[in-house]
Amino acid sequence: MNIILLGPPGAGKGTQARILVDGRDMIQLSTGDMLREAKDSGSEMGRIVADVMARGDLVTDEIVIGLIREKLAGDKRGGFIFDGFPRTLKQADALAQLLDETGETLDAVIEMQVDDAALVARITARSTCGNCGEVYNDETKPIPADGVCTSCGTSAEFKRRADDNADSLKQRLMEYYKKTSPLIGYYYAKGQLSSVDGLADIDDVRAEIAAILG
Ligand code: AMP
Repeated sequence: MNIILLGPPGAGKGTQARILVDGRDMIQLSTGDMLREAKDSGSEMGRIVADVMARGDLVTDEIVIGLIREKLAGDKRGGFIFDGFPRTLKQADALAQLLDETGETLDAVIEMQVDDAALVARITARSTCGNCGEVYNDETKPIPADGVCTSCGTSAEFKRRADDNADSLKQRLMEYYKKTSPLIGYYYAKGQLSSVDGLADIDDVRAEIAAILG
């Protein structure tokens, strides 16, 4: 099964993707994570995308499509969760073509609905475990006092993303509404869209998604 999690930054796509990875042996393909890895590795591509990401703009379609193409050629396990991809109509068309070429199908597109005020509050309070990526929130799920991640049990460094600040977030939201939100109509027209309330409790969102995927 291959699915897309669609929604603005902070909607909870990464959190739900991780739950699906654990529960269904699916593979999370987060283009944001891939780009951050490229940036941290100091590769040429990483240098090209660093400023674009810091500003909150989208990197070029060619770069992200190239990253996804590579991953689709590898291990498939229980299927792919596209997290943060596609973000433009061009990327959506490219994904359809890539899946076609590999004989795969797109089984569901799940839109995670949230309002902007909640996103700002979530994102500026967000940190993740540097070891396993578990997401924490200063208000609702603080980093444990003993510094040991509740998910992986290690006392890893807890990281805040460089682009999780008010200025960059404003730009990321503008990019979302301009370039990514048209995908809601695109997938609706194909009869593939389902929507969930991204502001519900993590477990309720998980259950809503499970009901959609069957
Ligand atoms: P994310 O972790 O999904 O919030 O992505 C972080 C940043 O990486 C975004 O603000 C963009 O600069 C870049 N990025 C991630 N995925 C894409 C994509 N599919 N298309 C273009 N830019 C992307």
